[in-house]
Amino acid sequence: MVLVVRGAVKDYDWGIVDGLAAWSDEATGGPQAELWFGVHPGGPSPLVDPVGDDTGEHLGHHFDVEEIPLLVKLLAAARPLSVQVHPDAETAAAGWKRQQQPGEARVLSDPYEKTEMMIALEPFEAFAGWRSAEQAASILENVQGTSAAVAAIRAHDIPAAIRELLSISAPERIGQLASAAQAAGLPIEQIEAYRTVQEQYPNDTGALLTAMLDYLTLDIGEAVYVPAGVPHSYIRGTGVEVMTSSDNVIRLGLTGKPVFVDRAIEALRLDLEPQIVRAEFGDTLWPTASPFVVRLLRDGREKLPKGAYRIVVNVEGKAIIDSDIGEISLRQGTAAVIGAGDPDAWVQTAGLVAVVQSTQR
Ligand SMILES: [Zn+2]
Repeated sequence: MVLVVRGAVKDYDWGIVDGLAAWSDEATGGPQAELWFGVHPGGPSPLVDPVGDDTGEHLGHHFDVEEIPLLVKLLAAARPLSVQVHPDAETAAAGWKRQQQPGEARVLSDPYEKTEMMIALEPFEAFAGWRSAEQAASILENVQGTSAAVAAIRAHDIPAAIRELLSISAPERIGQLASAAQAAGLPIEQIEAYRTVQEQYPNDTGALLTAMLDYLTLDIGEAVYVPAGVPHSYIRGTGVEVMTSSDNVIRLGLTGKPVFVDRAIEALRLDLEPQIVRAEFGDTLWPTASPFVVRLLRDGREKLPKGAYRIVVNVEGKAIIDSDIGEISLRQGTAAVIGAGDPDAWVQTAGLVAVVQSTQR
């Protein structure tokens, strides 16, 4: 069985105005943040017929949650997403159980781990992982009132530093971020990133936390792999995001949504770091211990072997999936979903597709 779906649209306020219209086929004049390709109850993908019209069904009518282990998104960020951390399998299972009790906050959306990788479709900027203590301290030393936070950073006590920074955030301090980055000798693009944070989130208690986060840029086709437990905030850009099928986001700042400081700190995995994959365009992206492997394929043909969950998103141009049931043409912005138990298939593209496979069965 090969099913063809379109993405379920998410119009979060940080999205680019009509940033996904080339894939969603719909210009709304408003922010378009994410298109979801998967079976997550927060946005199961609608099935489409060969001319692109909805059939009235979605992927969840054909596959169980366990059969679709991955969620793939096309993402368009005009401004920074929240400073966030995702739970690993153990933290998610325990947190989910806890929130079934009466009176407990509903922090999680599902009982699953969220480990993710962002692959740039255009130059992409992000905060991910921790800066060295020395560098974080050298920025924050130039922001007034942060001496306790700086001491905690120097003592490598990240939870204490987070709590200190959240307790002292005030607009006049947040407004010092860019000049503090400059005084610390950071390169111009990082100073500009902090200027964006202070301009977009002048009253946000979590804004100063970005000074603790490492900064990175991705060229087209490069990726950052973010294991569960690693903090991050994507700053701007358009990309393909691949993750385990979860929407568990525990926020610390840069958001109008609820912030759960204790739960975010519990979810941190201080033993893990992001992996930046400096691949050539078209290389296989397979970070160490990743539950998925991804390839951006331009103008070519590739086998999609049976035995693993597979999904192919047509990013640009023409694509054809062929399998034992014949050929299926994929419109731009749609995806072919193939279960682990289904036979071998092939994808051929005159354009660009994202080929994603689970490595977990
Ligand atoms: Zn994330």
